[in-house]
Amino acid sequence: MSPIAYKLWSVRCSLVAFQKMAFSAQQPSTALTKLKETLSGEVVCPGDEGYDYGIARWSDNCVKQAGYVVFPKNNEDVVQAVKFARGQSLELAIYGGGHSYSGSSSTQGGVVIHLGKYINYARCDPEKCLLYVGGGATWEIVEKVGMEHGLATVAGNVNHTGVGGLALGGGYGWLTGRHGMTVDNTVQFTVVLASGEVVTANEAENPDLFWGCRGGGSNFGVVTEFVFKAHPQRPTVFVTLLIYAIDKLESLLNTIEDWYGPDEGLHWGCMRVFPGMEPGKLTLIVMYFYNGDAVEGRKAAKKLYDIGPIAEKAMEDLPFVKLNTLNNEMAAHGGRKYVKGLKTRFRSVVPGPGGIVQFHPGVVYLGVWVGFLAQAGVVGVSFGGAGFGWGGTGTEGIIFQFYTDPALDDSVQSQVRAWAQTVSEKTPVAFKAGKGSESYGVGYANFDPDAAASDPARVFGPNYNRLREVKRKYDPENVWNRWYPIEPTEGV
Ligand SMILES: Cc1cc2nc3c(=O)[nH]c(=O)nc-3n(C[C@H](O)[C@H](O)[C@H](O)COP(=O)(O)OP(=O)(O)OC[C@H]3O[C@@H](n4cnc5c(N)ncnc54)[C@H](O)[C@@H]3O)c2cc1C
Repeated sequence: MSPIAYKLWSVRCSLVAFQKMAFSAQQPSTALTKLKETLSGEVVCPGDEGYDYGIARWSDNCVKQAGYVVFPKNNEDVVQAVKFARGQSLELAIYGGGHSYSGSSSTQGGVVIHLGKYINYARCDPEKCLLYVGGGATWEIVEKVGMEHGLATVAGNVNHTGVGGLALGGGYGWLTGRHGMTVDNTVQFTVVLASGEVVTANEAENPDLFWGCRGGGSNFGVVTEFVFKAHPQRPTVFVTLLIYAIDKLESLLNTIEDWYGPDEGLHWGCMRVFPGMEPGKLTLIVMYFYNGDAVEGRKAAKKLYDIGPIAEKAMEDLPFVKLNTLNNEMAAHGGRKYVKGLKTRFRSVVPGPGGIVQFHPGVVYLGVWVGFLAQAGVVGVSFGGAGFGWGGTGTEGIIFQFYTDPALDDSVQSQVRAWAQTVSEKTPVAFKAGKGSESYGVGYANFDPDAAASDPARVFGPNYNRLREVKRKYDPENVWNRWYPIEPTEGV
């Protein structure tokens, strides 16, 4: 090592040592007693009342036995939880809504900062068209509070999903075609850093952190409050569910490729288990959304009707606040799930017999589900403007199996992975991502069950180096490392 490099290295070591000293090491029981005295909220340990609630997750295979679960009521509580964990050298995990596919909001033996119990509010400023949202809120409350004023922001498609993970990782929903991604609509974050400092990040204050949090996920700290732009939203919308014979898949794909407009959205899926259909029989389903009335909606969806669905369930004047409840039952909490994101348009994949992962009677649901959105909405700030690194294709896909028996864990995972690989190989990512950018990466970051083990350089593409700089500034010791862990750049 050269003398200069050595000097830099030793300065960095002294700094790290100094930061560690700031979190005084104490006996666990003394530290816990002190934490309990300081908190306005609560901390629970295995066996305590509320512990099971604190470690429960959307998918049972993401449950881990935390050493401590802290339920903070305010920023100061979060600061105390961070100091406690770091003082004991314990791993930290942040719970927003508990829907991560990879278990990144859980920890084995460490400390969970559970924002969902108390920091779960939404408040609307109708004059400024802003929504102030607690870091542990779900989209349900955001939509309810916004629509009391005829306003909405870009939420996910299932309203019990947490705001936290979805908004930090990108976020798309039915309104994306019109208003962009959730990250396009985020104007401010309040963040508790690993140092214990509480900072605001927006265009003017800490703009580098603001940029990083819009897509860089939970890499920089605990976001205790999000502020979102809200847009005027009509109270009712048109949604229809269309069922087709599987031999219509090619016609469907030809039809939907490029036609949908900014007020439309479409999901299609092939499922081997679908409510009301014979288990194991492949069913082709389309869910079509139109942000307008039924007459206009049916006109806009004419091409879908022309393909010849065998059944339809239309919701003509669906209250907007009900829109993101439609999949709640199918995507209910509990049971075991393996969901793998795919970066593909599924163009060449016509799932014949055996084409979709094999049906097993112990499986509750299995299939593929693909969302189509107006591409313009997806590439808003995605390239260069924020940490978001999905690739902005306007299409996201997942392949999934929901089941209950832990004995199926291995076979489910290997089947889903193998099928995902087949799909990727059959459909190389050859299309342009927009704005001149080549497509890259591994799919939508929030859909990766193997996030912690994935290569963040692939996920974040050209934004990665800048994200590493932001990481060095705000989390130089990589304390927040449970999602795609961005490696801080070297040096001081
Ligand atoms: C049923 C279902 C439907 C979905 N639909 C959509 C969809 O329509 N659109 C879409 O974009 N995505 C969708 N997703 C994916 C979703 O974005 C991710 O699962 C996301 O991680 C969920 O966030 P969460 O807060 O509920 O999860 P958590 O498991 O609580 O958190 C996920 C990650 O974010 C971190 N995190 C959470 N909150 C905070 C915070 N306040 N501060 C710092 N870090 C935090 C956690 O530490 C963890 O690493 C869906 C997922 C499910 C299960």
